[in-house]
Amino acid sequence: MEKVIRRWYDLISINSVDGNEINAADYVSKELRGMGLEPHLSWFEGDTERRRPSVWTVLDSGKPGKTFLLIGHIDTVAVKPEQWRTDPFTPTLVDGKVYGRGAMDMKGGDAAVLTALEYFSEHREEFSGRIMACFVSDEEGLSQGTYGLVAEDVIHADYALMAECRYDNVAVGFRGRFSFEVTVKGKSGHASRYPEVGENALISAGKLAAAIEALPTKSHPKLHHGTWCVRRLEGGSTGALIVPDSCYMFVDRYVVPGETAEICISQIEGAAEELGLGEKVEVRLKPRKSPYMQSFAIPEDHPLVVSLRRHYEEVDGKPLAIEYDPSVCDSNILAVSLGIPVVTWGPSGGNMHGDNEWGVPYQVINALEVYKRIVRDMLPA
Ligand SMILES: [Zn+2]
Repeated sequence: MEKVIRRWYDLISINSVDGNEINAADYVSKELRGMGLEPHLSWFEGDTERRRPSVWTVLDSGKPGKTFLLIGHIDTVAVKPEQWRTDPFTPTLVDGKVYGRGAMDMKGGDAAVLTALEYFSEHREEFSGRIMACFVSDEEGLSQGTYGLVAEDVIHADYALMAECRYDNVAVGFRGRFSFEVTVKGKSGHASRYPEVGENALISAGKLAAAIEALPTKSHPKLHHGTWCVRRLEGGSTGALIVPDSCYMFVDRYVVPGETAEICISQIEGAAEELGLGEKVEVRLKPRKSPYMQSFAIPEDHPLVVSLRRHYEEVDGKPLAIEYDPSVCDSNILAVSLGIPVVTWGPSGGNMHGDNEWGVPYQVINALEVYKRIVRDMLPA
């Protein structure tokens, strides 16, 4: 078995469902030490039990030059084993597909990064500058792993490759996302005397919800446009005969470059104003443990994109399409918080986040080869 496949299998066998990243981090650390590289562990704030580290390392060529970052996440989403046809933590090859949690998202990418590092640790003469690798936690949650490394000022790089699971295309841009909490106030009163008495906050919130979803968004030639989605309305009671005087609303907002949280909040406030609800509506960005992800896109002719596409075509035989992703991932943090140009590409598969997740060995093998070539390209010896 090729080393990269063995590492892929090893990682699938390790339960690193969110909260258990330590298991995969220990494995990655051991592999790095075996290559003569020093693993650094980093725990994000709030991980008091220290079970959720990210691991990072730097491989120095000994020659001056730029830094190339290879990055992937070691956590996976949870499993419902009873719904799987095979054991999710036993990689199982059936008809050319390897089944297991993380087989697609994204232990193949992690294995390819590890094995590329091993190659360059044995061939330091083939590149200049430094290769940094990060294996982060909590990507499937709040990205506290990557944000933690940003907070510690660990990541310094000129180029980045996020080894996420998308094989037939490379993502060069992502939308961003914010969540807002809106409180709509009414006036209580006895239900028997309504509507002469009382003002129903649920009705006001319903009108506002419809108005919010009709609000305009900016557009982008490739990321299309932002979107609004009212995801929760909550208020009133079935018990007491009282006109509801408050309604909570949860609003999701995907954004394209140029759309900020402040702009979105003033849009919602404007819609409330138009409905005559200005005084009765409060809008805030929903607090969360890590910053929100903002949108970005790097030019399609960036050397990183050009190099990746050329090597993919040489290795795989097919041209590599360029994609713009409607959602967010840790690439947003690298590009927006750190200003590092990043491409997102790696071995893929099927049933991501679902039961019977699978990946395919040739994509893991090809990803390793492409990663080696793009590093040599961007960090010429
Ligand atoms: Zn992923």
